[in-house]
Amino acid sequence: MNDIYSHIYNINNVNTIYFGKGSIRILQDIIKDKIKKKNDYCVLFIDNFFEDKLDLLHLTFNNNNLVYYFIDTSNEPTTDIINLYTQEITKLFKYKPNFIIGIGGGSTMDIAKAVSNLITNGGLAEDYQGWDLLKVPGLYKVGIPTISGTGAESSKTCVLINKKKGIKLGMNSKYSVFNELILDWNLTKTVDRDQYFYTGMDSYIHCIESLNGNLRNVLADSLSIQVLNLCKEVFLSDDMMSEENRKKLMIASYFGGCAIGMSLVGLVHPFSAALSVVLGLHHCVSNCIVMRAMEEFYPKEFELFWKFVETQNVKIPENICKNLSEEDFISLYNSTIVHRKPLENALGSNFERILTFEKVKEIFLKM
Ligand code: NAD
Ligand code: ZN
Repeated sequence: MNDIYSHIYNINNVNTIYFGKGSIRILQDIIKDKIKKKNDYCVLFIDNFFEDKLDLLHLTFNNNNLVYYFIDTSNEPTTDIINLYTQEITKLFKYKPNFIIGIGGGSTMDIAKAVSNLITNGGLAEDYQGWDLLKVPGLYKVGIPTISGTGAESSKTCVLINKKKGIKLGMNSKYSVFNELILDWNLTKTVDRDQYFYTGMDSYIHCIESLNGNLRNVLADSLSIQVLNLCKEVFLSDDMMSEENRKKLMIASYFGGCAIGMSLVGLVHPFSAALSVVLGLHHCVSNCIVMRAMEEFYPKEFELFWKFVETQNVKIPENICKNLSEEDFISLYNSTIVHRKPLENALGSNFERILTFEKVKEIFLKM
């Protein structure tokens, strides 16, 4: 029975996308359209980079129907933070918000998605970490990426760290897809160069992992191949942040997010997740650090990655596992090996014979 279902992919796409330079101006119309009555209101989660730059988003504070939360992304989103925001919103206001807007990178967009889901589903964020656990649609949600790469704008998940369980897992569900998106590449021009590269590489790395995996399908492959082509154009050019390249990367990120739900990652993400859980490193820079040790598994993709680094002259941290204790390596090993599905996708069902403790430690020591 499972065999039949394992070959069926549900595709859940964003309904409406405004794509264009300056399309952020549409945001005002979206808000006006949805706020009709006195008690109507919208909750906005906005990356705190924009806290004193609301003009860039064509937003003003003097609107009683808008509730702002500015997100500090120093730490990646946790289940605890989602529970806190949801409790605060439900306690402070008599009515539920009419809709939610997330403006920022993967962290901020994931917070917007998760709070939207939790407000309507009730309970705690951790109850919904896994696959298809949400019972009803979340509040209407609008996503506005301000940095490109994770695909959080189009994916059907929102990734959260669960500190109690020591895991990082998403609310994977058709209800985690945004209803509307504004894709305006004007918004990404202020991103720090290194950060732009790290986050952009998430698109590249998702695709190389899924295209080299054992579990493949033509739908995800087609999108991934296109993402790969766009990444080559962007990261082999003189200026990865030119206007044309910011536009291309925004589309690569969008396609990458569509492909994630129908494909599996491989080796990089499990190792990267371990760096995030054990050493607190952020997802996208962790992926790039893991690429230091991937020559043996993805030789051509490794070579291209380092060509991107060289062409764009960006810094990838190194020697991060140099002074770790044996206990740290045990934690890193456990947090890597727990990701069975992607590891099987990369190395087959006997992956544990290849990834012994000694081998995993050797890989981490190359980072
Ligand atoms: P982020 O949201 O953590 O932001 C990275 C940095 O960029 C922050 O310092 C932020 O302030 C800054 N920034 C964002 N936009 C800016 C702008 N326009 N100008 C100047 N600075 C700006 O970064 P990210 O890499 O996009 O997201 C990482 C998160 O995404 C992780 O938590 C990861 O788990 C999650 N993720 C989610 C999915 C998904 O499908 N939902 C997929 C992959 C990763
Ligand atoms: Zn990723």
